[in-house]
Amino acid sequence: MIEGSCCCGAVRFTLAGEPSMMGTCHCSRCRKSGASTFVFVKRADFSLSAGRDAISLYEPETGYRYRRCFCGKCGTALGEILSEAESFPVNAQTFDDDPRVRNRFHEFVADKPDWYEICDDAKRFDGHPVQS
Ligand SMILES: [Zn+2]
Ligand SMILES: [Zn+2]
Repeated sequence: MIEGSCCCGAVRFTLAGEPSMMGTCHCSRCRKSGASTFVFVKRADFSLSAGRDAISLYEPETGYRYRRCFCGKCGTALGEILSEAESFPVNAQTFDDDPRVRNRFHEFVADKPDWYEICDDAKRFDGHPVQS
């Protein structure tokens, strides 16, 4: 069992299986909302053990897809944890245990600020990852 939680501990979740992968987005929305590195989990493996009522939502504006969840008490960005999709991204920083996957790609590298240097060998994409 892999566990995760927000900063204040109101929101807690568990993962019954290993996540499928990890990726990092350098777009300004992910940076500003405080969730740039994501772990992709399967819906069937994920369960919210506490804090459903503490979760607030930031709905996407036109042209964007993700409904961003965050803790309404402490502000921790949680990712898409209320998603109904088969697989969805969870903020990697919320894991209390090692999610066991490692970063596999960087997306929106073209939007990355100059002060941030990428120091791993994961694949880089200027925008959304392209299948290769
Ligand atoms: Zn919290
Ligand atoms: Zn992004």
